[in-house]
Amino acid sequence: LIYILFIKQKTMKTQDLSNLVKQAACLLLISHKVNQKDENNNFKLLPTLYPEDALEPYISKKTVEFHYGKHLAGYIQTTNNLKADTEYKDLSIEEIMLQADGKLFNNAAQVYNHYFQFEALHAPKKDNAPEGKIKKNIEGTFGNLDTFKQKFAEAATTLFGSGYVWLLASADGKLELVQTKNAENPLTAGKTPVLNLDVWEHAYYLDVQNLRAKYVENFWNIVDWEKVNKRLECIK
Ligand code: MN
Repeated sequence: LIYILFIKQKTMKTQDLSNLVKQAACLLLISHKVNQKDENNNFKLLPTLYPEDALEPYISKKTVEFHYGKHLAGYIQTTNNLKADTEYKDLSIEEIMLQADGKLFNNAAQVYNHYFQFEALHAPKKDNAPEGKIKKNIEGTFGNLDTFKQKFAEAATTLFGSGYVWLLASADGKLELVQTKNAENPLTAGKTPVLNLDVWEHAYYLDVQNLRAKYVENFWNIVDWEKVNKRLECIK
């Protein structure tokens, strides 16, 4: 079952919020780097975790240059502009994402969502496939890897407009696929993502134009499943 996750209004108890912030920071493995600010108290764009051409031929250097170097950089810049002189100015990306609404939420969530995807990619590997716990959980939930990939592709290709597909995990080992619109992130609904795919056109148009399905097919060659397993460790 694939459904669109509609995010409810963010009215959380302080304790719930604090736990959610910790969970969000654990799941974004490079959170500590993402949240290092410059001398003006601004978030800065981290260098890419691999050379810009490392994902070729599945994601081109040009796409990384624009998607990471321009789009993500833009979301960081706008987050910095919007948070300046507000109650959010000293907060982390996770805290902003989980508390802000409107434009500030959109931009902070996009910072989180993009780092979340880019950190879980690596250079193409032959027969790249899940191993360990995530393999077990995929087989337990979907039966086998091919069915999982098919459901994931279905979620990606049927999402109308801009958004993300997310693989959610829970403590009992069950996984779930959801679609979100625009910048929305499942953490704001208390769900735990371990993998995401950006299906905004800017993510794939330079490489495969309108062929979103091809973009998803390419994705399987470069998913860093070890990172997904590391994220599973955040779920107690
Ligand atoms: Mn994007």
